[in-house]
Amino acid sequence: MRKIEHIGIAVDNLDEANALYRAMLGVDHCKIEEVSSEGVRTSFFQVGESKIELLEATSTDSPIAKFISKKGPGVHHIAFDVEDIHASMQRMRDEGFVLINDEPKRGADNKLVCFVHPKSAGGVLIELCQEIAQVREVNE
Ligand code: ZN
Repeated sequence: MRKIEHIGIAVDNLDEANALYRAMLGVDHCKIEEVSSEGVRTSFFQVGESKIELLEATSTDSPIAKFISKKGPGVHHIAFDVEDIHASMQRMRDEGFVLINDEPKRGADNKLVCFVHPKSAGGVLIELCQEIAQVREVNE
């Protein structure tokens, strides 16, 4: 793990949350992106080396909608930047962590991502993420 890439926060309303975080951080969001496969609309704020990712559900069966109905809005996951997501996934498996997806999938912000089940990670949903550009460099 190289750094905390971002902290994901589940929100009820992305526009209201954008205004709140703009006031808090003193900067505007750097992008808004919809990830239809996950049923979310996201916005990112750059804070030094790391980001805040706000996540709003776009459908009632989105994981974010389920999270909010159970726990309310708030911190949803911590994402670590990794150099080689396949190697990191194997290392986590070897350490006994339960991965939610068997293969990396495409997430927001041009990343390959994999989630680690909170039941195996002390109650915290962990995301591993790797920039997609770096995957190409490795393959060439
Ligand atoms: Zn994330």
